[in-house]
Formats: sequence, structure tokens, C-alpha cells
Amino acid sequence: MGSGRTAAVIGSGFGGLALAIRLQSAGISTTLYEKRDRPGGRAYVYEDEGFVFDAGPTVITDPASLRELWELSGRNMDDYVTLLPVDPFYQLCWEDGYRFDYVNDQERLDAQISQKSPQDVDGYRRFLEYSNDVYREGYEKLGAVPFLSFWNMVKVAPQLIRLESHRSVYSKVSAFIKDEQLRQAFSFHSLLVGGNPFDTSSIYTLIHALERRGGVWFAKGGTGSLVRGMVRLFEDLGGTVHLSTPVDRVETENGRARAVIAQGKRTAFDMVACNADVVHLYEHLLRDDAHGKGQANALKKKRFSMSLFVIYFGLKGKRPDLKHHMVLFGPRYRELINDIFKADQLADDFSLYLHCPSVTDDTMAPEGDSAYYVLSPVPHLGTADIDWEQEAPRYRDRILDYLEERYIPNLKRDLVTCRTFSPFDFRDELNSHLGSAFSVEPLLTQSAWFRPHNRDSKIENLYLVGAGTHPGAGIPGVVGSAKATAGLMISEADLDIADAS
Ligand SMILES: Cc1cc2nc3c(=O)[nH]c(=O)nc-3n(C[C@H](O)[C@H](O)[C@H](O)COP(=O)(O)OP(=O)(O)OC[C@H]3O[C@@H](n4cnc5c(N)ncnc54)[C@H](O)[C@@H]3O)c2cc1C
Repeated sequence: MGSGRTAAVIGSGFGGLALAIRLQSAGISTTLYEKRDRPGGRAYVYEDEGFVFDAGPTVITDPASLRELWELSGRNMDDYVTLLPVDPFYQLCWEDGYRFDYVNDQERLDAQISQKSPQDVDGYRRFLEYSNDVYREGYEKLGAVPFLSFWNMVKVAPQLIRLESHRSVYSKVSAFIKDEQLRQAFSFHSLLVGGNPFDTSSIYTLIHALERRGGVWFAKGGTGSLVRGMVRLFEDLGGTVHLSTPVDRVETENGRARAVIAQGKRTAFDMVACNADVVHLYEHLLRDDAHGKGQANALKKKRFSMSLFVIYFGLKGKRPDLKHHMVLFGPRYRELINDIFKADQLADDFSLYLHCPSVTDDTMAPEGDSAYYVLSPVPHLGTADIDWEQEAPRYRDRILDYLEERYIPNLKRDLVTCRTFSPFDFRDELNSHLGSAFSVEPLLTQSAWFRPHNRDSKIENLYLVGAGTHPGAGIPGVVGSAKATAGLMISEADLDIADAS
């Protein structure tokens, strides 16, 4: 039953969709505005010559947090989307030929670690215990809590100190594990949410526990089918989606958001939530509000995550020797990551993530063929002022040559289709500040209360959701942020109505 209250959500990334579902499930009549012609944000889908390419997220973790979105209205996620288990979670490959299957089976893990570095078997066990501990404190207890006051931060300080959160992911992993390749195997994960393992708080080792506890999954038909399932759920609940409808402005008056202006049309709402980039919100959508300008300037002083260069390609035939998720380490680890986060030009080498969904799901490509994407972390536009119009074809060819030489023989001979997404596209298509792929960098000093809050500090019925707010990037992160934001919006909705009238 409707409550008579209305909300706008700007942006249909996973955070925006999860928030819209939560609001609509609570009886708040919700309208979702999306700039692009398809929903999903970073989880957009390209279809080229019968190949289906998920543009962004492919590793689905913590399925329970997604399932909850259906359970809110007594529905079953399985009626909307099928999740397939992925094994190994990842295959990790180094240039010296060493390969490590990152699996969810203790015996298989122990066997591989013991073969590589017997002394690290025990160290890995202790690392897993530590990671589980951080998971319980950082994710279960705090992952969906809005940090609106500094007091929240003070309350968790003892746990942060106990867990040595001031140390970096790599430093903490190294305290348990001695072999350098195994250190890389258990520390690269923070890159998946835009964090430099040498700078990011050891709190992000919780990703390891998250994967071990909840598994790694792939949505049948691609991540796009999960997005479509969420949109269908939202619409079944009575929500409204406007695609190809960029919001131009959020109208404010007397410290409240009053309306959303999109394509020249003004629509009044009781509450407004923004899933678009945080700098875009304050600099562009709130450009008429003095508070917007101040916030935008403050945000621009923060450090933003690196960008990515992604190549989506389809091949004739299949490559049965490849695994679904592959991490291809280059010759340098620490030095390359340093270049990605700090250097003003592209490095000569790269470390890549290769996605081979046809291994798990043959609906991603025409019969007998196979779909791929490969991504290379690169500096954002504030770190390296690269002209990606010029650079993209060159960089694409360098990466494809490398793949052909080492992992996919005859790649170019069998190439059917190929497209790229560069830092310019993150900036222009997704309105992402500096073309960052993961928004505000997940440093301890930019986490929890130090991150943009889930509710604006001055405009009391304006809320934020998604990678730029607490807890941060990644599907579990933004779905957690939706829970935190929805909690605030639902509990404050009655007050909003009273004030707005
Ligand atoms: C290549 C890549 C691979 C990744 N892989 C994984 C993975 O395997 N697993 C994982 O968990 N995470 C992964 N991530 C991270 C994850 O995808 C993101 O952190 C998450 O999807 C971001 O969601 P979000 O809610 O912040 O919204 P976003 O996806 O950033 O969406 C924001 C939306 O707002 C829209 N918008 C912007 N401006 C406006 C406007 N003015 N009006 C209307 N709409 C607007 C945009 O078009 C966009 O659709 C990956 C990210 C990338 C880029």
C-alpha cells in the first residue's frame, strides 16, 4: 500500500536500484532517473554481433545482500535471476608460468600453498582468521550503518585499533604470508574496489572473508540479467523508471530539495537521493545552491581511485584452457601499482583482469564462439593527463598483443568484434570525476565518517547512495550503502512530509 510519500533516485547503478527497491518496498512512491539508455551504471551491457558484454562488474559476491532486496516484499530472487557458482573464483597467473587457483576449498588451497611455500600454510590459516574477524567487525556490523556523526567513528575506534587498520592491506597480508607471489594473491583484492593495496587500510582484507563465506557467483546471461531482474522487481512493486533522462538540476529552497529538473521538466518530490558521482551532484546538479559549490570544492581535495581501460572482444571458437576470472600479473607489482596511482603517464607494463564468461555461460556469445573483456588499471585524469582519443587504439593493441603472445593464441586472427572504454568514457558517459572508476579512494582517512555521508549535511531531505558514500565501491558496498540510505529515508520520511507542506 502506498504512503503518499514520493522520492526521486538519480542514477540506476546497483546502489540506485537497490535503494529504489527498498523505498518502493516501504511504500514510498519512487521514480528512478537514468541518463543512459540502459540501466545498471557501471554494469551497463553492450551487445555486438551476437556477443553480450557486461561492461563492469562480473564477480558477484555476498548474494545474501541481493536476495534481501526480494525478501523485503516476500518475493524470491530465483524467480528473477539465476546465480551460477564460479570455480575457481579466480585463476592467478604470473609471467614466470606460476599459476594459483584461488578456490573456496580449504584442502585445494592448502595443497597449493604447501607446494609453493610450506611455511605459509599456517600463515594463511591465521590470515583467514584475521580476515573473518575484520569481516564481522567491518562488514557485518558497520557495512550498512550510516556514519552521520563523528561519535559513530569514536565508538568504533577501539576495534579499528585492535585490527591494526592503520596498516595497509599488503603490510598486513605480509605479516602472515612470506612468499611474494602468495602475498600478491591475497592482497590484490582491494584493487577490485579501487584501493591501492599498499595504501588502503587492512580493513579491506575483509573481501577475502566475504568471498570465502558467500562464494563467487555469475548471473546467468551476465550481470546485465541481474540488473534487469532488479529493474523488473522495482517495476513489479510499482516503481517508475525513466531511461535516457539525465537530471540537469536538483532544485532547493530553504535547505530542502524540492524538485528534480530533467529534460526541461520540473517534478516535485518529498525526498531526493543521488546515485550519480558525488562531485557531479554538488558541482553540477546543485550548481544553483551555494552549499553545492562549497561541497564540490571540498570533495575535489579528496583522493580519487584510479581509472580503468577496458577492451570488450568476441572471438570465433572457444578457448577451453581459460578460466572464468583470470588475473594476469605483470613483471612488477608494487612499482606498477605505484605508477597507476601516482605516475603522470602510462607504465610500459601492465597487470590485467581477464573475464571469460563463456566458460560458465554459453549464452554470452553466438554458438561455438566466446566473449571476453580485459581490463587494465590506469591512472585517472588528474594523475595522468593522457589524451585517450589518441592513446586508446595504441593501448588496446599493446594489450591484445600481450594476450595473444601469452594467453590467447591467434586472438587477432579470430577477432570478430572489439570495443574499448577509457577514462574519457568514465568521465563523459558516467559523469565520473577525473574519470575515476571507483569514486573516492578507499583510504582509512576517507572511509566511514570521513567519506561523503549518506545524507547531506545541510539539505536535510537530500541523500547519497553508491560508491562515493559509505561503505564504498563494489556491488556489496553499494548495496550496503543503499541499506544505510534507505534506513535514513524511510525513518525520516514522515518528518519530511510535515516540513514540506
Ligand atoms: C570495469 C569494472 C569492473 C568492476 N568489477 C566489479 C566486480 O566484478 N564486482 C564488484 O562487486 N564490483 C565491481 N566493480 C565496481 C562496481 O561496479 C561499482 O562500484 C558499482 O557498480 C557502482 O555502483 P553505483 O551504485 O555507485 O552506481 P554507478 O554504477 O556508478 O551508476 C551511477 C549511474 O548514475 C547515472 N548518472 C550520472 N549522472 C546522472 C544524471 N545527471 N542523471 C541521471 N543519471 C545519472 C550514470 O549514468 C550511472 O548509470 C567494477 C567496476 C568497474 C568499472
